[in-house]
Amino acid sequence: MDSITLPINLIILGSTGSIGTQTLEIARAHPEKIRIRGLAAGSNAELLARQVAEFNPDVVALASVEAADRLAGMVSCRVLRGVEGVMEVAGHEPGDCVVTAMVGAAGLMPTIAAIEQGRRIALANKETMVVAGDLINALARKHGVDILPVDSEHSAIYQCLVGEPRSAIRKLVLTASGGPFRNRPLSSFDSITLEEALAHPNWDMGPKITIDSATMMNKGLEVIEARWLFDIPAERIDVTIHPQSILHSMVEFTDGSTKAQLGPPDMKVPIQYALSAPERWPSDFPVLNWASSHALSFDEPDPLRYPCLALAFEALRMGDGAATVLNAANEVAVGLFLERRIAFADIPRMIEGALTAVSSKGAHTLEARVDLDREARQWVAESVR
Ligand code: MG
Repeated sequence: MDSITLPINLIILGSTGSIGTQTLEIARAHPEKIRIRGLAAGSNAELLARQVAEFNPDVVALASVEAADRLAGMVSCRVLRGVEGVMEVAGHEPGDCVVTAMVGAAGLMPTIAAIEQGRRIALANKETMVVAGDLINALARKHGVDILPVDSEHSAIYQCLVGEPRSAIRKLVLTASGGPFRNRPLSSFDSITLEEALAHPNWDMGPKITIDSATMMNKGLEVIEARWLFDIPAERIDVTIHPQSILHSMVEFTDGSTKAQLGPPDMKVPIQYALSAPERWPSDFPVLNWASSHALSFDEPDPLRYPCLALAFEALRMGDGAATVLNAANEVAVGLFLERRIAFADIPRMIEGALTAVSSKGAHTLEARVDLDREARQWVAESVR
């Protein structure tokens, strides 16, 4: 992998979300290394206007046309509208690196636009790899693009693999915090409230990924993401529950050695590494204190507690477009739960139903995956009417 010439011309898709704002914190700390060229978000015109005032990008976009119209009255830079506008920002010139931090499958097309422009991808949108990891890999190879993971687990594995031959990998081990319901009695899962599901013990994240962490679908999506990012079959990817979120993931090698990457839970570390790799930039992020005692524990995930994890492995086993169905059904189900229209325990039931009902065989093209995504969303939406 090549390092990027400094300063990096940076484009952030999803700049008003959790990853986006933390990326801008890094940009604020390294003005000599990062120049913000383009910002895109969903509908938060007010925050995007403040970001424009501070970072002075060439161009911005909002996926919501109505919000973009409002933004145009607040800033003097170029304002683009809708999904096409977001894709244009992804391909804006100059741009060396694109941080893809849109929520959900909406990140797919802008990520493809950025790859086609030959940019380094700092990949925060795991759904892109879940929906079309095989196709994204082929496209990245064609355009000579490096995809650097922002997800903390995948960043850990990426860092463990620097300098290692691929043939030496025996196993990837992803760590999972276990979420807020790790110790909750299974008999009371039917009474889980939205507020309880939104209270993650270790990580401060957006609402969709926080619910995904509570169901452990987040880990399921990460297994699929790892399968494509590192080109390792699912049988050689393990998940272990590590409630402290200190060890971010590990790689077991053929000689019996295991390498891990550790640190306090702080997304700014993997975000910055995705920009700086293969170099490391100095930071004032908190570090572990080895003089005080740390208990690191590891445990096997209980399939009854976390049915979504098994569903993700099942989707990988099914192959073709099954992961697309899994992801789409999950997005709709989580949205319904956030609107208090279904119960927490309904989320895995709906995903399982969609995997059975929506035929995903033979979906090998991007167009087929996009159709399948729509079909699965429809199926779940109709199942609650
Ligand atoms: Mg993660």
